[in-house]
Amino acid sequence: MFFVGCNLRCPYCYNHAVVHGDIPQEELLSLADLEAFFQKRHKVLSGFVASGGEALLSPLLPRALEMAKDFGLATKLDTNGTLPEKLISLFENDETRPDYLAVDVKTSPKRYDSLLGQGYGEKILATLDFLKALDVDSYEIRTVLVPTMVDSREITEIGESVSKDANWFLAQFRAENCLNPQFNDLIPYDEAKLQSLADLAKTKVPNARLR
Ligand code: SF4
Repeated sequence: MFFVGCNLRCPYCYNHAVVHGDIPQEELLSLADLEAFFQKRHKVLSGFVASGGEALLSPLLPRALEMAKDFGLATKLDTNGTLPEKLISLFENDETRPDYLAVDVKTSPKRYDSLLGQGYGEKILATLDFLKALDVDSYEIRTVLVPTMVDSREITEIGESVSKDANWFLAQFRAENCLNPQFNDLIPYDEAKLQSLADLAKTKVPNARLR
């Protein structure tokens, strides 16, 4: 389920409609619609993924997770990691605690304020600190290898900010339909560069790999 709206405007984001809330009314679901969907489909589903945009912004998220659990579904939350207070509050209640988290780390925490907005560096560090207390198999870190945002220095600094045992997935950047049109002109890293960044990441976090 995609939750509409996002507090960030990552220049390489391709999910314009969800980020800007530009979704036709007939495609929007209420909690009652979600419950009806679960009632009909829960026997053939294994899990529920809350994604976005940024799902933690939605006041409907806790109840949606709770409902999914009530129907016996495993739950996963995708988050950009900049709303640690809201994330922690989900974990304070067994009913809303996601079974699995995927947390995006978009660049070095040191560059968040200048690239993504003032104050976000501190927020991503608070989220990464919170993750260190979790079982490493209950979450993953994800980084898109966007030229100008992630290179050797950023990989080193991210690697030094996350748990050494974390599962860290690195992904190729697609220069298509980016929120900032200038990013459509960036040339994605070639295979050799992707591999060299993955090898560097592994020196800090052995379970880092390209996805
Ligand atoms: S990439 Fe994710 S966090 Fe960034 S603007 Fe898009 S939806 Fe928001």
